Amino acid sequence: MLDLFNLDGRTALVTGANTGLGQGIAIALAEAGADIVAVGRSAATETGARVAEVGRRFLDVRADLSSTAPARAAVDAAISLSGRLDIVVNNAGIIRRADSLDVEEADWDAVIDTNLKSVFFLAQAAARHMAERGGGKIINIASLLSFQGGIRVPAYAASKSAVAGLTRALANEWAARGINVNAIAPGYFDTNNTAALRADPVREPAILARIPAGRWGEPGDLAGAAVFLASRASDYVHGVVLPVDGGWLAR
Ligand code: NAD
Repeated sequence: MLDLFNLDGRTALVTGANTGLGQGIAIALAEAGADIVAVGRSAATETGARVAEVGRRFLDVRADLSSTAPARAAVDAAISLSGRLDIVVNNAGIIRRADSLDVEEADWDAVIDTNLKSVFFLAQAAARHMAERGGGKIINIASLLSFQGGIRVPAYAASKSAVAGLTRALANEWAARGINVNAIAPGYFDTNNTAALRADPVREPAILARIPAGRWGEPGDLAGAAVFLASRASDYVHGVVLPVDGGWLAR
């Protein structure tokens, strides 16, 4: 039974794997057996060491995903590791906070380009390879703001709501090609992305009080969902946005 979750011999590309949720996901996939290709702006040295500790291969690819230019080269680099690409985790993302009356166009564009446009074109580049090979797994990192509006983050809410729609749209088109496209919607996790919230003496306790599990998430809390959606265990799962949120959306 547990063999369904085994990722031995697979190659996984994870964007933004140097820190935070991407790092947690990369380590989880490696522990399940996958070789890891980290794609991002900064060196993923610590992640590489953790992947090596569990005996998997690791490739670190520099790419700025605020534009779609590196998408094809990143996929080609991933394939060069072992001749195949089985899993893509579209994790890299940014958030810009401002009252909606004050949002600047450059900030709007940066968020939409990184969180949405690059997600589509990286998925497209990977799916062209996966379709030829008979299948693969694409996991997009959505958000609670795929379901809710949030506060002072309109571009982020728009981008993550669109990621949910994109996940369903791609699942519809690519399921018949053996490609599973799904998303994980993390709740409130302790990473750089939420540093401003955790430092806010009003927002932090208000958020914590609303989480049924009674604590913020840690990157390792995504391990099970990520391995499930990356493995044969999810072969008949298409187009879901799976909340991993300590119960936040259940309230
Ligand atoms: P983080 O800021 O620690 O990590 C973001 C990652 O994305 C980093 O590796 C960063 O280098 C990378 N990145 C950002 N812009 C990039 C670019 N232009 N090119 C290449 N890489 C780029 O935050 P995190 O919380 O780990 O965020 C990971 C994902 O999870 C994001 O998509 C975020 O929106 C999402 N998310 C986070 C939370 C949370 O509570 N932390 C909740 C829901 C969703």
